[in-house]
Amino acid sequence: MKRTFRKNQLIISWVVLVVALCLFFWPAAKLWPALTYEQPDVSYKVSSIEDFTSNIDKIRNSPTMKQYSSEHFEFYLPIDYMSQAEANAYIKWVEERRGKVLEYLNHQDVSDDELKIEVFVLDRSGVSFSNGKYFVVYDPKSGLDYTVHELTHSLDWQQIVLLVIENDENEDILHQDALNNFFYEQTAVLAEEEFGAGMAFPNYGMPVDAIIYGQLRQGTTIEPLESLKQREGLLDDNELTISEWRYLWAGSFARYLIETYGADAHRNVMTAGYQGAYQKPLTELEQEWLTSLRVGALRQGIMLSLGGVLVLAIAHLCLGRFWLWLLPVMTSLLAFLSWGYYLSYSDDELWGLVIAVVAGGLFKLWKYKIGVVTLWTLGLLLLLESLIIPAI
Ligand SMILES: [Zn+2]
Repeated sequence: MKRTFRKNQLIISWVVLVVALCLFFWPAAKLWPALTYEQPDVSYKVSSIEDFTSNIDKIRNSPTMKQYSSEHFEFYLPIDYMSQAEANAYIKWVEERRGKVLEYLNHQDVSDDELKIEVFVLDRSGVSFSNGKYFVVYDPKSGLDYTVHELTHSLDWQQIVLLVIENDENEDILHQDALNNFFYEQTAVLAEEEFGAGMAFPNYGMPVDAIIYGQLRQGTTIEPLESLKQREGLLDDNELTISEWRYLWAGSFARYLIETYGADAHRNVMTAGYQGAYQKPLTELEQEWLTSLRVGALRQGIMLSLGGVLVLAIAHLCLGRFWLWLLPVMTSLLAFLSWGYYLSYSDDELWGLVIAVVAGGLFKLWKYKIGVVTLWTLGLLLLLESLIIPAI
């Protein structure tokens, strides 16, 4: 084979390298702040939810906390954690998020001093929590911020309170379908994904549905929604991974419902249940949602395969002019891996591709044609896996 230096090939290999570098760093840059953040040592600590609730007055009046009032909130922010400017920015941001969440869920907007929500920022290495009157978050500067999640719980609870008040304080108007953790985590996870600061459980800044598509391609079985509804809470300290998945499923189900049927129907579940709000039972809504997930998983599989084919093509060029293409092919692989992680949470097909490229390279040392055939056969076979979605 004749090997002549071609200027345009050099240019193309550099363009590929730069594009691959950008593709690699985009998801990595999103994760970086949370990975490198160091929690400050501050003076405002509580050890548990019980510790907080039994000391709430002490915390409100603590000299280490500063109180701020805004239109819809009373804030208690630690002096040695937030400067005046940071506090003002946080307060403005929370007020703004409140408007966005109310609009998205089409909730009644009531400005009433009686319904002001207390916001406590505390240092507590555990989960944030909330009810209709207050919510507690810790270290929102870390990027691992649950403000919008907890705010949405508080706003949902206020909606419930308003419904009860409007119905002569009769709590019986609340439907059984809305009296469980599953119903409220739906909107909290969805609102956090839409309007949150970025890195919160359960998706940590990644698209919720994309993670579930990856799970489906890996053969994960989604628990029946009726059984999620029966659970006392979605969080179980003994099985954290599955807990995380339950939150993801709740958020994804809410997205499907709200995008398909609108926010009003979802809110009507509070008083009419799923059957009353949608004119169909939960199991039927569940089947529709699962079908939409299967379509999404297949679409994601096709995108991943196309990305893989691109890497194979660059690797093919690498086999011909090794020194010219080595850097672009390695960077493309890294980009493909980081996007695979970002989009799908699955790594079988990705590592399969690495094996195909390495095997192709090794066989090329022996014979060029065998190297190329090995690369494409192995690569395409392994990418085929991303198009297979088990029945759910
Ligand atoms: Zn929650």
